[in-house]
Amino acid sequence: MIRKSIYSLDAYTPGEQPAIKNIIKLNTNENPYPPSPLVVEAISKVSVSDLRLYPDPVCTEARRIAAILHGCSPDNIFFGNGSDEVLRLAIDVFVEHGGLAGGFVPGYSLYPVLAAIHESRWRAWPLPQPGTLGACADEICKERECPSLFVIINPNAPTSTAFSRAEIGEFASKYPGVVLVDEAYSDFSDSGSMADMALTHPNIFVCRTLSKSYSLAGMRVGYLVGSAEIVSAFYKVKDSYNMDRFSQAAACAALTDQNWMRANCRRIRSTRGRIALELISRGWNVPESQTNFLWAEPPSGVRAEFVMGELRKSGIIVRHFPEALTRSRLRITVGTDSQMDEFLSVLDSIASV
Ligand code: PMP
Repeated sequence: MIRKSIYSLDAYTPGEQPAIKNIIKLNTNENPYPPSPLVVEAISKVSVSDLRLYPDPVCTEARRIAAILHGCSPDNIFFGNGSDEVLRLAIDVFVEHGGLAGGFVPGYSLYPVLAAIHESRWRAWPLPQPGTLGACADEICKERECPSLFVIINPNAPTSTAFSRAEIGEFASKYPGVVLVDEAYSDFSDSGSMADMALTHPNIFVCRTLSKSYSLAGMRVGYLVGSAEIVSAFYKVKDSYNMDRFSQAAACAALTDQNWMRANCRRIRSTRGRIALELISRGWNVPESQTNFLWAEPPSGVRAEFVMGELRKSGIIVRHFPEALTRSRLRITVGTDSQMDEFLSVLDSIASV
């Protein structure tokens, strides 16, 4: 009854959302601070009696606001039910059934699953070191078959490192297909968003989310910035009403309150720097993070999985990816200063056992 490809699908496993409340949750890169008060106000103003009516199918107001933010036309903006929906539609729009999509590994493990659902193929290349992305385009282009859609997560998850704007530009100018820049974490980076490049390079489009920097993971809002041609293709394939009334209202308010988002990013960046140094002083290997998480390797002789288990006994959850390339590290979301102090003190108690 069930399609063969779905029956045998190795589905994506989202990070755990535990039912117990008093837990320090550092496992899914959520923002520890609440969304803007303007969001609270906007949601409370959504008319309950209007819920019997369908929402705006094309997110007119949210696109208007996002267009002002990015200095483009609303025709360059598409909103999705979380950026996950934008990524799924990207496979529909750019990859034939049986065709090839590609990206780097380690990366976001949803991508190969989306390709498999679509009955297309996914090929992953080793993540290049920052500074070598342009040269990597030459290597990929030499292959017999180049993916029609190539994903660059920038900054990358789970490694927390970033490519420069010049590298992304060089990669795209050499690349014969379409380049999706997944900017889920870019608001936490030094260089910020590269969405403007989607307006000057016809084969780049940028996907952004309100889940992390805008503290709206529970609302499910993502959007893409790209050429009007790309945006209109997404409008052809999306669900008729993919953004409900609450998420449209929340998106408008959150995007309007840039100061709130920026202040929270500054706080998270400052906590991130402090905790990275604390971990390094305890013998951990922690690359400089451009995201709201640390990609941290315990001192030699200590298994990441063991540390995760011990933290968990004390009510602190972090993420471990058991695959060969990633199993030596933990992905630790940056929480509030007091959450991270608690995290450090539990770590110290593990070390002294
Ligand atoms: N891209 C990357 C790299 C991510 O880590 C995530 C979060 N899991 C997403 C996209 C999806 O974000 P959302 O669907 O919440 O917008």
